[in-house]
Parts: sequence; C-alpha cells; structure tokens
Amino acid sequence: MKSLLITIDGPAGAGKTTVSRNLANRLGYRYLDTGALYRAVAFKVIENKVSSDHDLEELCRKLTINFVQRDGVFRLFCNGEDVTDKIRTEKISMMASKISAKPVVRKALLSLQREIGEKKNVVAEGRDMGTVVFPDADIKFFLDASVETRALRRFNELELRSSQTLSQVEIQIRKRDKNDSSRDVAPLKAAHDAITINSTTLSAEQVVEKMLQYIF
Ligand code: C5P
Repeated sequence: MKSLLITIDGPAGAGKTTVSRNLANRLGYRYLDTGALYRAVAFKVIENKVSSDHDLEELCRKLTINFVQRDGVFRLFCNGEDVTDKIRTEKISMMASKISAKPVVRKALLSLQREIGEKKNVVAEGRDMGTVVFPDADIKFFLDASVETRALRRFNELELRSSQTLSQVEIQIRKRDKNDSSRDVAPLKAAHDAITINSTTLSAEQVVEKMLQYIF
C-alpha cells in the first residue's frame, strides 16, 4: 500500500483519540496527537503563571517540545520535562483551548507537526490538520458527534479522576467547541475535501472500519 498521511479533525469528545490510535495500529502507522502539544504549552503556561501576551511569546520562543520513543510508545517532552501524564486534566483542557487561539502558540508548534506528518505513514489528529497543517494530506476525515454524546464519553473517561458532574462536563465541552470554532486562526472546521463521519451512534471500532473502507 502507498504511504499515506491521514488526518482526523473534530470537536472534543468525538472519539478522535481512540479512533486515531486504533486506525494507526491497524495500518502500522504512527499516531500524532497534536492536542497533546497544545496541552503541553498549557501546562507550562500554568506552571510558570504566564499571564500576559508578552510572557506567552517569551515562553513560545524558548519552547523545546519533542516526542521521544520509549518501549515502543511516544512520550512527550516539553522543555526537557516528560509531561505525558500531566496534561490530561480539565484545567489543562480549558487552558489549551484558550492559548491555542494565539497565533504565536500555533506558529511555535507548526514545524514539529509538519516534520512528523511529512514523513507519511501517519494518522494526525487535531482541529486544523486537514485545513491548515496538512492541506495536502492524502485522506482527511472529520469526526463529529452530538454534544450530549461527546459530554457523556468525556465524563466516563474522567469518572475515576474527577468530581465533576455530567452537566459540568457538558458545559466545558460547549465552551471548548465555541472557543475552538470561533477563533480567527485555524478554527475547528471540516476541510472542504474531508469525509465527515458522525460517530453519535457508532462505536470506535465501527468508525475505524468505516474509515478503512475509504482508505482501501
Ligand atoms: O484534542 P485535545 O482535546 O487534546 O486538544 C486540546 C485543545 O487543544 C483543544 O480544545 C484545542 O483548543 C487545541 N487544539 C488545537 N489544534 C489542534 C489540536 C488541539 O487548537 N490541532
């Protein structure tokens, strides 16, 4: 099979992470989680108490961010620190959504994403993969689901770690949707040539099977 770059965009909770990871496994491809990059910057913003655009610019200027393969899995390092397990909180989700609207942040993360994607054999997941980062990707998917379904999925993921109620999770998802799709730079939207799949009534396995039908 030809080497492909496949992109999967969509809102929070649509199932992108599970689907992208499973699809990459099925194809023997690398999985690129670009949300993790924005989360890593958000982590540093919180850690360093960055509160002005000037300080954010400074942080981005000094930012070193890279994936390091350990025992077959990629760990994410930011300024020399392994942040892989520290970036999965709702506080970081909201901060990532906030700072990802800043052009200086998007610019700082662009070349790393392209470097990985251009090697092909990659499934890249995010919000602007098909529109901005990889406009020439071989196959583009846009994965969507109803907001209620997305909130419930997220809630079930968080259950063990969080004391949030389902309605609080839904409010946050709606807020992130609004932030992500209304920002001026690289807003969340389907590329004109993307295949849209609605996962509201589909399992992750069913979505992957559907995608494979488009790929082969
Ligand atoms: O996908 P994930 O929920 O980990 O992404 C966290 C946040 O990072 C999103 O809400 C979005 O604001 C931002 N993001 C982005 N562009 C991407 C990936 C994520 O703006 N390509």
